[in-house]
Amino acid sequence: MDTAPEPPPAAALIDRIREDILARQRFLISSHARPDGDSIGSQLAMAFALEYLGKQVRVINADAPPDHYFDFPGVDRIEFASEVPADAEADAVLVMECSDLTRTGVRGFEGRYIINIDHHAGNRMYGAVNWFDESAAACGEMVFDVVGALGVPLTFEIATHVYLAILTDTGSFHHSNITPRTFEICRRAVEAGVNPAAMARRIFDSNSFGKLKLIGALLDAMELLDEGRLAVLYLDDGMLKACGCTPNDTEGLINLPLTAREIQAVVFFKVAADGTIRVSLRSKYDVDVRLVASAFGGGGHRNAAGFTVDGPLADARGPILERVSAAIAEGLRTRPGA
Ligand code: 5GP
Ligand code: MN
Repeated sequence: MDTAPEPPPAAALIDRIREDILARQRFLISSHARPDGDSIGSQLAMAFALEYLGKQVRVINADAPPDHYFDFPGVDRIEFASEVPADAEADAVLVMECSDLTRTGVRGFEGRYIINIDHHAGNRMYGAVNWFDESAAACGEMVFDVVGALGVPLTFEIATHVYLAILTDTGSFHHSNITPRTFEICRRAVEAGVNPAAMARRIFDSNSFGKLKLIGALLDAMELLDEGRLAVLYLDDGMLKACGCTPNDTEGLINLPLTAREIQAVVFFKVAADGTIRVSLRSKYDVDVRLVASAFGGGGHRNAAGFTVDGPLADARGPILERVSAAIAEGLRTRPGA
């Protein structure tokens, strides 16, 4: 329908993935470190689909997701490890949402039979099979196709995880990569029993009081540049502790400034205890923050990207903000009046 006709075409790749899955019995599934809704949803939709077919599945992630994800089916069966456990026998490894194998943060997948399913631009094609579709609004859209190709029905659990992936990775239907297909898949998920209101409440209305305090502190310290088009947020361990929060409580906070009409892009600097700085970027419209992240060794999507740099913040800050300002200027050039 709307997938790029690159050789080999998506249909051929989905076919190959189906054959590979049907021919094998034991699977490991993984996704990126610091998992988000798309990585959790894509992995677990796949895990439930494979188990429906009677396959053996272990899901291995480097980090735990934020607490409220544990309300979703199967999240409590994810194993957290920085190295593949010695007893993890497998005929294939399904890696989703990772442009590079190192994004898993788990050592030991190298050299195994890897099926790579991803929607991030610049995927390194590290698998034996590589299905990469930048046009997918969430990796969960691609998993939906694989589940269908496998002949597995859209069970409530699978539909829940596909919807979770799409709802979160589109920034609750804010990002620019949403297509009719996105809604078609959501329609199917709702038909399968998913309750959109309940999903939104579980995902977005699950803050602790500490997180509310943190929102106050962050916005209080927010810096506005470029005539209010660029917002900069700063966070360190001291602020987290003062609010009784953990790093997982920072999820979603970067989107708050974008609710102001003028703000076109947000840069969120999170300074870790060891001095390294995690930089998250978000934008509206045509402001391409992926290009900024790529320039600093990271990646992502046009409206959501990230990377890590060495401190100190005083040195790192300037060149990053300059590039984001340039991206805003470029976005304004292509979309005057935004
Ligand atoms: P976040 O700001 O939520 O950490 O990341 C936003 C988006 O950018 C996600 O889609 C994520 O996959 C991508 N991203 C974040 N950090 C990195 C990174 O270090 N490398 C790459 N390649 N992508 C990243
Ligand atoms: Mn994603």
